[in-house]
Amino acid sequence: MHFIETFSPEETFQLGRTLGEQAQPGEVYTLIGDLGTGKTVLTQGIAKGLLIEEPICSPTFTIVQAYGQGRMPFYHFDVYRIGEIEEMDEIGYEDYFYGQGLTMIEWGNLIQEILPEHYREIQIVKDFEKGFDYRRITIKEI
Ligand code: ADP
Ligand code: MG
Repeated sequence: MHFIETFSPEETFQLGRTLGEQAQPGEVYTLIGDLGTGKTVLTQGIAKGLLIEEPICSPTFTIVQAYGQGRMPFYHFDVYRIGEIEEMDEIGYEDYFYGQGLTMIEWGNLIQEILPEHYREIQIVKDFEKGFDYRRITIKEI
């Protein structure tokens, strides 16, 4: 486990870009952090690193948004508003999680019981004592 400190949205975006450049098909990342911490900024960086040109919007009302034109498919989940875990079955989540793309799940901790055995957990936290634009980003291999 290690953490990275960023001091601007651009730095968080660049971290995401590096993660996207290094991503391998079939990987699953979860993304945890309160509203406004930078989950979308990081995700936009990841998309850039995957060479996706389309704009990334939060899949709040659809749970998953798929992007097909990058270096590999990118499946962006936001499970914040999920009610029952059965909703994930209805979406056919296994085709994404165990497919040949990169899966990123915002609020992935809420669907713990169906996460794969191994995934990468990315957590973003603020610390106002270090400034309003400071973020500590922890990456943990599970
Ligand atoms: P979330 O998706 O987690 O709700 P967003 O990515 O939409 O958050 O928004 C993060 C906000 O915080 C943006 O307005 C961004 O400009 C700002 N911000 C300030 N500092 C940082 C930083 N170090 N990393 C990421 N975002 C930052
Ligand atoms: Mg967001």
